[in-house]
Amino acid sequence: MENVIQINDTTWRIEDGHVRFLLFCGTERAALIDTGMNTPNARQIAESLTGLPLILINTHADRDHISGNGAFEEIYMSPAEEGHYRAQNGGGKLIGVREGDVIDLGQRPLRVIDIPGHTPGSIALLDEKNRVLVSGDSVQDGNIFMFGAHRDLDLYIESLRHLRLYDGLYDEIYPMHGSFPVAPELVGQLLEGACAVREGRAEGQPVEIHGNEVCLYRFPYAGFLMES
Ligand SMILES: [Zn+2]
Repeated sequence: MENVIQINDTTWRIEDGHVRFLLFCGTERAALIDTGMNTPNARQIAESLTGLPLILINTHADRDHISGNGAFEEIYMSPAEEGHYRAQNGGGKLIGVREGDVIDLGQRPLRVIDIPGHTPGSIALLDEKNRVLVSGDSVQDGNIFMFGAHRDLDLYIESLRHLRLYDGLYDEIYPMHGSFPVAPELVGQLLEGACAVREGRAEGQPVEIHGNEVCLYRFPYAGFLMES
């Protein structure tokens, strides 16, 4: 059963076990950001919290973020994510959003930042007015999944470097897994860790995830699950 937590007058997080999704309201419309793993009723939950017209934005299309997408005809998503989304029978018409685009909810512009690597079309959203960065799965303090066909560690490292250009524009990061919120410093820490993994400077240990033998590189601030 999901747990709805109000953050402030215009912002909620909906917790569903290991994953969460968000509801951001502006003056004109509201945005559901992802739809969780076991919450096909995500739209109903959002509509019980706000009467504003509702749009859906996906940070990325992994299975645990799209369970309620079926209730939406249109979905804001990176065009680079479409293949991955459709491969999981994701439906609806996609409205492509990319680096530099702004989705305005009415006095609450959300700036799109491309951060591919965890998935081909992962995006972050910068809520500049509230000084919050929505990071999806790419910046969080749990174990970040980087094994499997559509992951790319080099791209991920590039994306973290790119994200650093936005340093100073936000005070808190809202991730979809792990602690909530996390501090902006985590971006630099993950960058260091990911570079250490790529350059063979980190110690990994074998673990099993959903029947896959993978390698966990655990740092004090987060972990990476890599191909073993
Ligand atoms: Zn996830």
